[in-house]
Amino acid sequence: METSSKKTKNCPICSTLPKQLTVDTDKGEELPSALDQLTVVGGERAGAGFGQLRQCPLCGQFYRYRYDHDVTHGGQIGWSEHNLNKISVEAANEMQASFR
Ligand SMILES: [Zn+2]
Repeated sequence: METSSKKTKNCPICSTLPKQLTVDTDKGEELPSALDQLTVVGGERAGAGFGQLRQCPLCGQFYRYRYDHDVTHGGQIGWSEHNLNKISVEAANEMQASFR
């Protein structure tokens, strides 16, 4: 059985995504376009800590996507943090189970 890291190395989508990614769009950082190419396979609560389960349509690599943000208040600058992690099939199954 091939390891997922070997598979994702040859994948045109996953090869552009790091194992772990944090992007703050309020700081002008940009989300990688590959993020939009991932299929959402579970979870509608990306902004509620639970995260959203996404999967690469080409190689099947699973990802956990989370979004957290804070509004600007009292003169402090808010933030919009996007979080993406490559996760194992086991972790993906656990996430799927938590959505039911
Ligand atoms: Zn892939």
